[in-house]
Amino acid sequence: MLKESLCIGCGICAKACPFNAISIFEEEVRKIVFEPAKCGECEYECNDACPTHAIDGKPDDATLLFEYAHCARCGKKLKHVLKEAEYLSKKLESMGEDSQIAYLCDECKRKKIFDVATKYEGYLG
Ligand code: SF4
Ligand code: SF4
Repeated sequence: MLKESLCIGCGICAKACPFNAISIFEEEVRKIVFEPAKCGECEYECNDACPTHAIDGKPDDATLLFEYAHCARCGKKLKHVLKEAEYLSKKLESMGEDSQIAYLCDECKRKKIFDVATKYEGYLG
């Protein structure tokens, strides 16, 4: 069973499946295709790998589409999709970390850290 509402489109299950029964297509949007007809004798690796527990046993036949996230500072398209960013943002928040990091590209993350460091030095000076 696949609980579609829990799926964040991370694709980790596709990497874990030994029978390639789940595929990822990086197109205009990310497409994840679940093909239980390809499932073999497995140990439900996809269930264990899924961070949100969206698969219980064999997944259902489904094609899910996910929009990519864009950097909140420069607008560049990110490697992860919006639902992954939301998931990561909540995780960071629960750990008391800066949740906005989930919506930044690598370059803007570096700039942000540099900005913080500069302000800190300024304060000391
Ligand atoms: S149930 Fe097994 S074979 Fe089917 S998608 Fe999951 S890991 Fe792959
Ligand atoms: S690992 Fe879970 S959340 Fe990620 S794509 Fe697979 S079913 Fe969706």
